[in-house]
Amino acid sequence: MDGILGMKNGGYHVIGELVLEATKSLLVIETRGCTDVVVGVPHHAPAGVEQLPCPEHKDADENAGFLGRYLAELLDACSVIACNYPIDVNKRLSTDYCTQIVGWSPQVLVEIHGHGSGRARSDIEISSGADNNVYSETLVSQLRAKLSAIKGLDSYSICGTHSKLGLAARAAVTVNDERWLTYHVELPRALRIPSGTGTGEPPGAGYQFCDALAEVLTEIHREGRCQNANDGTA
Ligand SMILES: [Zn+2]
Repeated sequence: MDGILGMKNGGYHVIGELVLEATKSLLVIETRGCTDVVVGVPHHAPAGVEQLPCPEHKDADENAGFLGRYLAELLDACSVIACNYPIDVNKRLSTDYCTQIVGWSPQVLVEIHGHGSGRARSDIEISSGADNNVYSETLVSQLRAKLSAIKGLDSYSICGTHSKLGLAARAAVTVNDERWLTYHVELPRALRIPSGTGTGEPPGAGYQFCDALAEVLTEIHREGRCQNANDGTA
């Protein structure tokens, strides 16, 4: 891999987005004001780069990094994004990606993925693991109410019921770790990749989805404010 890029408090905003458009293998770590919620994106590649240099996880979650990074900025949350990465970072706790998440000691991990394989049964699928099904169902019911009021997002099907998910993330160690609650979010191509060109940053609907997700996460987990300000030691 090419390296690890650490950024403090979003100070390199433009550089961060340029990094997400590159095809180097990088782990982009950004520390922001809160560590109660952490956003992780383990399989990012820019739109148009369909494959990762990773034998155990070839399919890239194209453009998921842009949306995860945007969500983290909305929440003032720390984020870690594996770009064009040669290892499947959310399947073993020993990876640099997981080590970074453990170091932040979050209460909630939001992991952004992308699907396009046809294995998903709903357009948007969210898993908290079988044992925490009540959390993903609660999040989805509130999120569904918000999305239904947004033109362009009202037609997307969304599911948080573990037994009805096509992509329940059973192999992801991040979902099943008891140190934090995970929302494993699977997004369809239409929310990640511009139609027509197939390249460039995600369409507006993808960012609007993140707006709604950030609002619901804040309502459920923060009672309107950050629950764990970052003291800079993480
Ligand atoms: Zn993924």
